[in-house]
Formats: sequence, structure tokens, C-alpha cells
Amino acid sequence: MSYRFATRLLHEAFEPDKATGATTSSICQTTAYAKETAEDMAAIFAGRKQGFTYTRVGNPTLGVFERRIAALCEGDHALSFASGMAAVSMSIMNIVGAGDEIVTSGSLFGGTSSLFRELASYGVRVRYTDENRPDAFAAQLTNNTKLIYTETIGNPKLDVADISSLAELAHSYGLPLFVDNTAATPYLVRPLTLGADVVIHSTSKAINGNGNSVGGIVVVGKFPWSAEKFPKLAEFSAFGPMSYLARLSARMRADFGSVLSPFNAYLTGIGLDTLALRMECASKNAMALANCCRMRSNVKVNYPGLLESPWHELAKRQFAGRYGTMLTLSLGSRERAFRFINYLTLALNVSNIGDARTLVIHPWSTIFLHATDEEKVRAGVTDDLVRVSVGIEDKDDLLEDFAMALEKA
Ligand code: PLP
Repeated sequence: MSYRFATRLLHEAFEPDKATGATTSSICQTTAYAKETAEDMAAIFAGRKQGFTYTRVGNPTLGVFERRIAALCEGDHALSFASGMAAVSMSIMNIVGAGDEIVTSGSLFGGTSSLFRELASYGVRVRYTDENRPDAFAAQLTNNTKLIYTETIGNPKLDVADISSLAELAHSYGLPLFVDNTAATPYLVRPLTLGADVVIHSTSKAINGNGNSVGGIVVVGKFPWSAEKFPKLAEFSAFGPMSYLARLSARMRADFGSVLSPFNAYLTGIGLDTLALRMECASKNAMALANCCRMRSNVKVNYPGLLESPWHELAKRQFAGRYGTMLTLSLGSRERAFRFINYLTLALNVSNIGDARTLVIHPWSTIFLHATDEEKVRAGVTDDLVRVSVGIEDKDDLLEDFAMALEKA
């Protein structure tokens, strides 16, 4: 029986604990695991026997969380990380080395842009597209390209990637498509079902939803990984199509030590239960807020749900008529943007997205403070821009708060 999304959130890849009947996953807050005999320990280390040895290498609470997300995203496997940035960086560095290239959409979360600058010091070249269109990606591909990278909904430009067309392009060159699906969440779209190969979420955002834990997860599909094209995977060729995942776990997570805390996995799993409810409510609030703000002459609203958004049609098709929880407002000047933020009473001035509460920030002076002018242009960040991550408050209270702040600013 195939259940619908909200049901799958609660029931897939999880059942009450066999021994106690507990309805939530237990928290295995341990560093290491004792074994009866030295032979047992040696067999587990040698891979002849299954078992846990040390939490940086594996932990049952992380396993529950990973299986739930993999099932929800319709992926084969998932691996959790200490943060969304750990998930982004480890998933890429797993196959990319000196001399390799990445082709990416230009409109990226500031942390990812910063990471891509850092990758230059490892000899990795990152080529950016000006537009999130398959032909713009195609123009940047070279023999050294190892992967194509995009965010489903660019943060904060709010441009939308055409995932199935990008997957088709990537596969025609034998390349994997990596998608950061943080802003869309599996509620709006499951990129693996559209052909993406590696999907990344910062679980600190809407998957958690309560703003209480930083975390990240990488979900992998069925890409035909080969050591010929990706030499770093050679050591793990015995794992066949799982070689990417095996290396990600052993070399990236265990060796770099970018492991999620079991307690954070537990808290995020609780947040995950209500993802559908929150995304549905916050998306409706975002649409109402976008419509309300665009009635005013002194503000420009960007939201994929608005007919005038260049990404409206694609978003409508790809996200089945839903448009997400993020919008941006251009207020004419930095001074007015600051005044607007300061007048808001409900919306919190916070460097985060996907929270149950409505959050606003001035990206230029914060997340993009150290970005180059070129990066800001590519990400659609201007000095008068306010990013809004809409929450699940009562819609009318939000509309009143924003109308008041716009009026006064
Ligand atoms: N990807 C996107 C699209 C994000 O918005 C963020 C954080 O805001 C990240 C990745 C990084 O996630 P984290 O803060 O969990 O490291």
C-alpha cells in the first residue's frame, strides 16, 4: 500500500520499539559500544559482522533518522551530517579533487558560495551559470566537470531549477546532478523522483522546523558511479553502485568527523513528523503575504507563487501548485529595509529559514557580508532586500504586522 506524504512522514521507516513499545526513537547518546569479545570487535572492524563501534562511524538514532528521510525522499540511502554545510561540502568533496570542476547555478546560499571560493584552494574550479537554465549549464561543461549543482529554490533569489531537464543534461554527459533541496523540502518536491542523483537538505531548517538543532542530510539515488570517472571511489569499488555512499560514510563523515549528534537527530525527527502541516500552512501564509505586500506601490515582491515571477510556471508544474515559504521584499534603500525590520513586531530578525516562526533578515549586511559583488549579483542580493521566511502564525496577524511595518517604514 502506498500512503500519501503526510502519512508517510509519520509511519514510514519507523515503528514503535519492539521491546518497550516506545512511539519515538530512543536516543542512543553514547560515544562507543562495548563488545563481549575481542573476536567480535575485530569482526566488526573487518566488516565480517554488523555492529556499532563508535558514534562517529555509526549510531542507531542516526540510522532511524536517515532511514526515515531516505524513504520520504524516495532515495536508496541517506547519511546525516553535523550541519547542512557539512552535508554540502562532504557530498561534493567525496568525488571532487584538484583539477576537477563543478558547474553550478549562480544563485546560491551565501555559505555555499563561500565554500565554493574555499574549494579553489584545493585546486577545484567552480563555474557559475548566470541563469538557472539547462542551456546555461551546458555552456559551462568541460571534460573536467565532475558534477552539476543547483538549489531547487535559490536562496534568496527564489529562482527555480528545472530539475528533470538538468538531470537529463547531466546524464547525457555521464554526470551526477546534485540538488540542495533545503528551501523546497521533500514536501514541495522530491528531486530524486525527477532524476537528481544526490539530494542535500540542511535539516536545521524546515525539516526540524523548531529551530533547535543544526543538522544536514545527503540522500542518494541510483547513479551508476564508476571508479573510472570518479577515481576517488576506486577504494570502494567492491560496493558497486553504493561506492559513493560507502566513501561518504567512511572518508567524509568518519574521517572528517562531521557527524550529527544523536540528540539533534532525535529532536529533528520530532520536527519531521509535522513537516507537511507546517509547510502547507506556511506556504499559504507566504502566498497571502506576497499578495498583500504587492498591493503597495512602494515595495517590490518576489515570490514564485506570483504570476509575475519568471519562475511561476515552472514552480507551478514542479511543485504541484505550491510555492514554498520564502519571499523577498525590495524596499528601495537599505535605510528603509532596516526601518521595516525594526518596526516588525511578530517577525523575528534572525539568520535562519524554515522555522515555525516568521523570520526576516537583511542578507546584504549579514549572510552575504563577505560575498563578492559578483556573488551578490548572482544570488539576487541587493542592499534594499529583505528576505522573509514565513512561519505558521495566524495569517491575519502576519498581514497586519507587515502592513504596519511597511506603512511606518
Ligand atoms: N543550504 C541552504 C539552501 C541553506 O539555506 C543553508 C542555511 O541557511 C544551508 C545549506 C546550510 O545549512 P546549515 O546552516 O545547517 O549548515
